[in-house]
Amino acid sequence: MIKDKVVVITGASSGIGEATAKLLASKGAKLVLGARREDNLKRITDEITWQGGSAIYQKLDVTKQEDNDKIVKLAVDTFGRVDAIFLNAGLMPLSPLSALKTDDWHKMVDVNVKGVLNGVASVLPVFTVQKSGHIIATSSVAGLKAYPGGAVYGGTKWFVRDFMEVLRMESAMEKTNIRTATIYPAAINTELLTTISEKETLDQMQGVYDTYGISPERIASVVAFALEQPEDTTINEFTIGPANQPW
Ligand code: NDP
Repeated sequence: MIKDKVVVITGASSGIGEATAKLLASKGAKLVLGARREDNLKRITDEITWQGGSAIYQKLDVTKQEDNDKIVKLAVDTFGRVDAIFLNAGLMPLSPLSALKTDDWHKMVDVNVKGVLNGVASVLPVFTVQKSGHIIATSSVAGLKAYPGGAVYGGTKWFVRDFMEVLRMESAMEKTNIRTATIYPAAINTELLTTISEKETLDQMQGVYDTYGISPERIASVVAFALEQPEDTTINEFTIGPANQPW
């Protein structure tokens, strides 16, 4: 049951995070939305509230531990608990390694890897005391197979896969009843391509998304499905993408 679950979403200001916030709100969840663009968060929160849902937001840069701590505290102070966190914030500035876009490499590590670590560090103590909680993360099909242009992006998403699996195993061993779900999307039409600064790669990826891309609502429904499972059940991995995308 999703009704009344308190769910924190990182990267909630557009794309997959926004679609998930709206779907979960329509199913009665209480949302706590985080990202850097406050205008977008306000618009989404207003829309949810106007439709009769429950949502609050906080400006969040996932690379800062204190921001992650604050958004988890906001959830607890406002709603009394946290039932789930969706670690979804991410960037995808793809390029060949030979382009030496080292700033992009470091940004991806900071957001896609350290952002996940920071979010887990903030929520784990709350979940451990509650003896329940659900941690859902957005990896990528680039976290399952290698793609030219995606050495660093893919590396960050492979990291998420390994980290989430060990989190699942350790939670089971420690009997904290913390559940995990890792999502591996293929081409989903969002604002993600705007993070690509290398023109040739952008043109190529734009072609792929124009040909195959599907709505972020498809990912939102997977998050909802994971959350709807009974307390004793973890569905650990979901690979999801356009039916006609061959790779
Ligand atoms: P969007 O660009 O639409 O959304 C990315 C979100 O991440 C935005 O809300 C953005 O908010 C947030 N974000 C970026 N940097 C930070 C930061 N430092 N702190 C907090 N939030 C941040 O793209 P998607 O919805 O597609 O991306 C969501 C996730 O899905 C990402 O992890 C991406 O890698 C993954 N993914 C997407 C696929 C696709 O095809 N679209 C395929 C596979 C995986 P703001 O800028 O306001 O901070």
